[in-house]
Amino acid sequence: MGRVALVTGGTRGIGAAIATGLKSAGYTVAATFAGNVEKANAFKAETGIAVFQWDVADPDACANGVTAVTSEVGPVDVLVNNAGITRDGWFHKMDHTAWSQVIATNLGSMFSMTRPVIEGMRDRGFGRIINISSINGQKGQLGQVNYSTAKAGVIGFTKALALENARKGITVNCICPGYIDTDMVAAVPEKVLEGIIAQIPVGRLGKADEISALVAYLASDASAFMTGAVLTINGGQYMAN
Ligand code: NDP
Repeated sequence: MGRVALVTGGTRGIGAAIATGLKSAGYTVAATFAGNVEKANAFKAETGIAVFQWDVADPDACANGVTAVTSEVGPVDVLVNNAGITRDGWFHKMDHTAWSQVIATNLGSMFSMTRPVIEGMRDRGFGRIINISSINGQKGQLGQVNYSTAKAGVIGFTKALALENARKGITVNCICPGYIDTDMVAAVPEKVLEGIIAQIPVGRLGKADEISALVAYLASDASAFMTGAVLTINGGQYMAN
């Protein structure tokens, strides 16, 4: 097939499942990470996927990083904007650092990662942009005003960018996962997590592979008529409360 896929935050958690899923589907994959070099090297050794380190919150680092991926791997046909962080705390106690880090990493990265690839996609007449939002961007969550704001912004970004590029062979879609069993969720206090699982009709956390399978579809030619979509995948949690 020869298409190149770039997955941010692709060395662990949901991103690692997405990267390996796309590799199995025949893409040449590059995965980025922030600072966990040991994990990234283990992932590279295990999967043979090229890894690149830069901070998606830094626009210049993203532009330089995309240049490196383009020259070492090839022009990006599929971009998965997956990297994200939480800095939870109630808003009336939140400092500006917790706000700005989450906005820059989860939302600022949409500009900084997509801007360097979109012109090439338009010129080539093909592109797939898949953004990872969250159920908490759809319905809000206590202690996550910063995160819910950023993830809701991802939905608006997706829809507007989809409209601008619909005639250019580029689709832009967004996935809102519910609670998925990764390090990010392992950081949630056990009692809080028990309460969350009790609210999920399916009765368990999601698996990273369940998100990866949807990304593989969105990356494929088969999804060409789907753009600007907001896909919820949350074990029924969005309906339940
Ligand atoms: P993890 O914390 O398990 O992994 C995060 C990945 O993103 C790591 O590869 C990490 O790199 C990378 N990353 C974090 N910050 C940066 C940065 N500034 N620059 C570059 N890379 C960065 O997260 P998940 O797999 O759980 O989450 C993936 C995405 O899915 C996120 O956008 C998250 O908000 C979203 N999501 C997750 C849900 C869940 O339940 N897990 C639910 C809904 C949405 P490193 O290893 O170097 O730290």
